[in-house]
Amino acid sequence: MLTGSIPASSTLADDSSGHFMIRLADRVDVATGLPRMAGALADLSQLMRENQAGRVLGVLALAVVPDSQLFRRSADSVNKLRIEASRHISSLLRAQDRIYAISQREWLIVLPNLISSAALTLAMIHLRDGLTALDGLEGLTHLPRLAIGSAQWPDESNDPLFLIQSARIARHFAEQSSTGIQSYTPEMEGETEDEHGLRNELRLALHLNSGLALYLQPQMEIASNQCTGAEALLRWQRNSGEWITPPRILEAIDRLGMRQVFNRWLLQQATQIQLQLANAGINIVLAINLSANDLLDIELPDLIAQSLATWEIEPEKILLEITETLMVEESSQVMDVLNRMRELGLRLSIDDFGTGYAGMSYLQRLPVQEVKIDRMFVGEVVSSDKAREIVTAVTQLANRLKMDTVAEGVESAEVLSMITSLGCRFAQGYFFSKPVALPDFIDWWNNYSANQAGNFSAHSGG
Ligand code: C2E
Ligand code: CA
Ligand code: CA
Repeated sequence: MLTGSIPASSTLADDSSGHFMIRLADRVDVATGLPRMAGALADLSQLMRENQAGRVLGVLALAVVPDSQLFRRSADSVNKLRIEASRHISSLLRAQDRIYAISQREWLIVLPNLISSAALTLAMIHLRDGLTALDGLEGLTHLPRLAIGSAQWPDESNDPLFLIQSARIARHFAEQSSTGIQSYTPEMEGETEDEHGLRNELRLALHLNSGLALYLQPQMEIASNQCTGAEALLRWQRNSGEWITPPRILEAIDRLGMRQVFNRWLLQQATQIQLQLANAGINIVLAINLSANDLLDIELPDLIAQSLATWEIEPEKILLEITETLMVEESSQVMDVLNRMRELGLRLSIDDFGTGYAGMSYLQRLPVQEVKIDRMFVGEVVSSDKAREIVTAVTQLANRLKMDTVAEGVESAEVLSMITSLGCRFAQGYFFSKPVALPDFIDWWNNYSANQAGNFSAHSGG
């Protein structure tokens, strides 16, 4: 095992969680003893802070292009090969370089403090030539082809995941090239003029804070008829007047490597909204949405802590909605980030519950206080027995675990009364209000409070 080359930051965290074995396999590739993707992400964000000014931080993605002799080998023998290959790669690196095993046939290599991008290209050549000069590996008749791609920082993004993705894109191109090596360029992603325009407009929208907005949708406590929270939902109207849906905005943000810029914008907006609500005398919890990549960002908890402290907002006034399917992957890293957010006093909620693959038992493992039942089930709770069964099961389990339940997508009084009888505590949906801009939300709130004589009345803002 190459345990000696595991950097300190990738060693195991304490095992007090009782998930020692899971965490071990999560962080370290069992066959080679090398740290995996989560370690690379953590190390890269640290190295980005520490890299010497004017020097280049390089990332290489190195893969074996599988051929018939590899496909014919047993799992055991593939593992022996991987151990041997890992040792050879390590022997070609400098002491400060780091290596990670990110799949059965792919490694990541991080090269800090390079003099220039030319040094990164030289490193690729050095590795390729060093490895192809090997006499033979674990009984292979001939050496398989290698492909190496590189990406470098500083670049446009500042995002470790984006940097790794860029190196992997370059590696994909290297597989088809005669040299077997390629450096990343944005052209590899075939950016069209449209996308170029989109990128610039999105960047301006984030920096100048124009066009992009968070709309608010009320979340109601059913028993008290009160609005106790609001979910912040992303809206973007382009200069052309076209409205872009949230999934498309997020997809563009990720593709353009602007996730970290976006997260800063999102937190800034969320804190400003809380301040303005407080000014209007509205004291509610503000829910914001997080995506998969956000939970791989180990700096996010600190970022949130800073924003809250700067604006003197109580942590329990912010709730983070996290989609269920995203939580299962990379579990140890994700658990660390979740636990740190929980320690800050933020409320955590599982979004879209029931649509992912996780079994219900995993609810117990997560430090969350709330489950949001997906509108796919809520919408059919009156018409479909199956949907009703699912909502019942989730609600009962959540109640037993002392978690709150929110039914989303409540569009009618019938649905509201059904989910109430099934034991849901909170409801959200067009029946109360569509997501609306902040001033409209404040109007809605004032109207609702004034009219709240007992019955819910349906509102449907813009
Ligand atoms: P989500 O978190 O499940 O948000 C609820 C979605 O259901 C919203 O769609 C909301 O407008 C819609 N909705 C609410 N009530 C009803 C109803 O009664 N009937 C129907 N048919 N729909 C209802 P929206 O705003 O288009 O957002 C879509 C998704 O985009 C969200 O799903 C969320 O996953 C993501 N998203 C939105 N804003 C953000 C953000 O700031 N960050 C991240 N990471 N994701 C976001
Ligand atoms: Ca949500
Ligand atoms: Ca949802």
